[in-house]
Amino acid sequence: MSTAPQEAIASAIVTRVLDHLGMNEADVPHESVRTLVAALADDLAQPAPDGSADELTCRMCASPEIRAVEVGPMLGRTTVEILIVCLACDAVFAAPGTPP
Ligand SMILES: [Zn+2]
Repeated sequence: MSTAPQEAIASAIVTRVLDHLGMNEADVPHESVRTLVAALADDLAQPAPDGSADELTCRMCASPEIRAVEVGPMLGRTTVEILIVCLACDAVFAAPGTPP
């Protein structure tokens, strides 16, 4: 179960992603934003899997506190792309291996 602080963080992440995409929350269906925030909050509530593929660090500040966000049709995009959002410095960048 996610908690209020996690939802606040998730909401901030979604805002950062939309900003990165040049969109406003008003541009996407409210329901999509809510769904995305809820999914992210649940993700944040999970303990980090140890020694897993999450060895990626922020490209800007090298913090390991990053989250991958999948953006696609739910946000009105025609393609699905994975964006990485840094919780430490708010940087947003494409996941390695995804075309720019
Ligand atoms: Zn960072």
